Amino acid sequence: MLKLYNTETRLIEEVRPADGRTIKMYTCGPTIYDFAHIGNFRTYVFEDLLRRAIQFFGFAIEQAMNITDIDDKTIRGAIRQNIPLKQYTDPFKEAFFEDLGKLYIQKVEHYPEATAYIPQMIQMIETLMKKGYAYKSQNGSIYFSIRKFPKYGRLSHLKLSDLKENASGENEADEYEKDNIADFVLWKIYDPARDGQIYWESPFGKGRPGWHIECSAMSASLLGEPIDIHCGGVDNMFPHHENEIAQSECCSGHLFVRHWIHVEHLLVDQKKMSKSLGNFYTLRDLLQRGYTGKEVRYLLLSTHYRTQLNFTFAGLDAARSSLQRIEDLVLRLRSISADRPKTDGLKSARIKFKEALADDLNISAALAVLFDLIRELNTLCDRNQLGNLEALEALQLLSDWDRVLGVLPLEKKSEEIPLELLQFLDRRESARREKNWRLSDEMRDAITARGYVIEDTPQGARLKKK
Ligand code: AMP
Ligand code: ZN
Repeated sequence: MLKLYNTETRLIEEVRPADGRTIKMYTCGPTIYDFAHIGNFRTYVFEDLLRRAIQFFGFAIEQAMNITDIDDKTIRGAIRQNIPLKQYTDPFKEAFFEDLGKLYIQKVEHYPEATAYIPQMIQMIETLMKKGYAYKSQNGSIYFSIRKFPKYGRLSHLKLSDLKENASGENEADEYEKDNIADFVLWKIYDPARDGQIYWESPFGKGRPGWHIECSAMSASLLGEPIDIHCGGVDNMFPHHENEIAQSECCSGHLFVRHWIHVEHLLVDQKKMSKSLGNFYTLRDLLQRGYTGKEVRYLLLSTHYRTQLNFTFAGLDAARSSLQRIEDLVLRLRSISADRPKTDGLKSARIKFKEALADDLNISAALAVLFDLIRELNTLCDRNQLGNLEALEALQLLSDWDRVLGVLPLEKKSEEIPLELLQFLDRRESARREKNWRLSDEMRDAITARGYVIEDTPQGARLKKK
């Protein structure tokens, strides 16, 4: 049973699809005004872990991740370069998908772009106006009145009475702090100085949607209501998700999301990694420094999602050596050809790994199970107690776990070494232990004649193509 912390109830609760089969999940995606940084990718890598875990626990999944192509920042960028909005955002969208691939993040079912859902947003705003939750302000923009929704603040556990004291006037900005709580914008009326030639027609006049209504409209259009899980970084909790709840529930009259999940931030020197602070690295920066997508994924993945993670290059180097340890074992397991009786170590590791994931995706505990197993298997190899069947089973177990982790170095880099040669190597090793130098030399020569060399490593002898 997969259990996860629910931000709204503050309880660890079982994850179950409302329809008994398919988890409907919405994850807030990138604003494509620039390259995403690895702070953003901490959230997306976690969401990928969550998606894979949901499938590992036997559920189907239907997920939507939006692509925000309309907001103050994309519009500002397009106007600055004097090009159409799409021409400005397209290269960043392409780069985003390229980065997802490099980080082994699975493709999800839907990537809705805000510009393709304007009619649905307009329709929601019209309903909110009709029901009396939204009003036209003096400047012509449409606002949501938070006083009309007494449950406002329930996700971030803010009291509406405290909010009312703060709530003065209207807030046009998409992002703002808790001490700036006010009615939030649903439709921003066209402002030529700010918007250039970028606007959409609507019954409320020319303009464009506010950021919050974008997610509500796309989620309802693609996944229906209520959805099972909604996920994002902790900074999305307020005001973005709070506003999504208000407008969606007032529009539909029923629950919007059953289970809210928030990912803690990636920090640099104890401060949130962000564009505005300038303390960020893109994936591209790290690849240029010689790190791989897998190493970055491992680093971002290996800390529990509700704990802040401070980014350092030492951390990235540690991720590299962890992956190297796993790869050394994988190569060792692949080179075992001897027939030996099986031990019982894999069964309990399999159970413990799944238990760790079931417990609020406790990745540290899951990785501890993995590294304990690596230690045990290495010891068995050192003592020549591991046979080929068990080695194969261990490889199968790692590949099962990799359905969730998506990071283990399991791909075969070079061509497969012929089994016969592995048997020669095994015989050479036994011959050497028995000090049968003639047989050991014969085996070595047979290997060399087939175009391979023997490499003696601390983990034992390996074959390599000449
Ligand atoms: P944005 O493009 O700023 O809307 O962010 C996209 C996603 O990345 C959102 O879910 C944010 O919560 C998340 N995010 C932004 N900065 C960080 C960070 N430093 N650490 C983790 N997640 C972040
Ligand atoms: Zn969103």
